[in-house]
Amino acid sequence: MNKLDYDVVICGAGPTGATASLFLSQSGIRHLIIDQSVFPRPKICGDSVTPLCFTILQQVIPDIQNHFAEKLQVRKINKIRVYSFNQKFADLNLSDFVAEEKNLFYTVSRYVLDDFLVQQVRQRPEAILWENSKLEDYNVSGEGVTLQILKEGHPIQITTKMIIAADGARSVFRKNIFRKPIDRKQMAAVIRTYYSDVTPSGKCNMYELYIFENVMPGYFWIFPMADGTYNVGLGITSDVIQSKRINLRKLMDELIIHHPLLKDRFKNATRVHPIGGAELPFLTESEPKVSDTQILLAGDAGSLADPVSGEGIGPGIVSGKYAALAAVQALKADDFSASFLQKYDVTIHDKITRAYAIRISLFDWFTKYPWRINSLIRVYPKIRWIRNLLANLIFTRFRFRDIKSLITLKKLFKNTV
Ligand SMILES: Cc1cc2nc3c(=O)[nH]c(=O)nc-3n(C[C@H](O)[C@H](O)[C@H](O)COP(=O)(O)OP(=O)(O)OC[C@H]3O[C@@H](n4cnc5c(N)ncnc54)[C@H](O)[C@@H]3O)c2cc1C
Repeated sequence: MNKLDYDVVICGAGPTGATASLFLSQSGIRHLIIDQSVFPRPKICGDSVTPLCFTILQQVIPDIQNHFAEKLQVRKINKIRVYSFNQKFADLNLSDFVAEEKNLFYTVSRYVLDDFLVQQVRQRPEAILWENSKLEDYNVSGEGVTLQILKEGHPIQITTKMIIAADGARSVFRKNIFRKPIDRKQMAAVIRTYYSDVTPSGKCNMYELYIFENVMPGYFWIFPMADGTYNVGLGITSDVIQSKRINLRKLMDELIIHHPLLKDRFKNATRVHPIGGAELPFLTESEPKVSDTQILLAGDAGSLADPVSGEGIGPGIVSGKYAALAAVQALKADDFSASFLQKYDVTIHDKITRAYAIRISLFDWFTKYPWRINSLIRVYPKIRWIRNLLANLIFTRFRFRDIKSLITLKKLFKNTV
């Protein structure tokens, strides 16, 4: 292939694109990363991050834990409380499973988190960052990928050997690679806002998750933020929203005003931010197709969020790393063909989506009849193996494939975190 403007262009500088950039820089690959926004920028999110993010990010930002412990405005979480249909709850105390230094559940505003990652990108000489630069269109040919970009209002055309598409839930690239419209079963509509003066439930810094009959399949959440406000939101799969004609904003107001578990908590609360909504794409089928000639999809652009928890930052960061490594391999081999890049599909399945099957099956089984999830919540505090099972599913990437014998099956019920 002839010399082009850039070997690699990353489209989108959210957590996925920024991570891809940091890994390309670590491999010494000069690249362009573009984003239509100027950082810091707001982003609609539940603002929760999990240990999955740190496992990857500390490979490129070795002092990341110090930033979280001392420099960034974050709130450390030490408990996850899950309410069931019958209004009873179970607590997952994170200290029961991991040592304090390994407990890396936080809330952090995306304004802060995404800007922190972009600042890291800016520090690497291999990365050229263009903000206020919107990808308008692209064309793949044997000579490379041609990108039409509106940079600070001016049209620019550039060419590259490879694209890492990290342009989020409305990716320009995804529809051409998936080659079919997104199934509404593989998309959630999610809203969130911030409240001040919510009456706290206990002394703990905890994620509160509420499984209500009228938010199935999905959940309502309350997450405490570093500034004392609460990130409050709910999400439901888009097929159910459409078939039941649910108005999410109205439903959120109704729950907060009338639900017995919430109305007293929100009696003196004030909404301090408008409600924002966005789509969250995820995959429920087992084998993802996230690559094509010269293109790798990562993060929300590849629909890689967890279909049960809705966690998308961690999977975005993981896929950002592996997209960068796949691009490095393609450059070394000077092969950008669909067949060469298919290895990336296999990696993404192995590292991310394979673990989803077991979660979807268990979630579907438990929530199919309210008594099942009610019983789980009731026995959870009393039965150690159930606590271990849930902790393993949350903390580890346990997959059906890992269950090879009775011994490995037993591991699922032991504290292996
Ligand atoms: C309400 C809500 C709550 C959520 N809560 C959580 C949570 O608590 N924890 C969690 O882990 N996940 C959560 N998620 C999911 C999470 O927000 C996403 O999975 C995550 O942001 C994906 O990161 P990304 O980098 O792939 O995409 P994004 O963060 O969306 O970044 C994409 C970037 O691409 C840029 N871009 C888009 N189009 C173009 C273009 N044409 N040209 C140039 N730039 C472009 C955008 O400006 C953006 O900066 C939530 C989602 C929603 C909607």
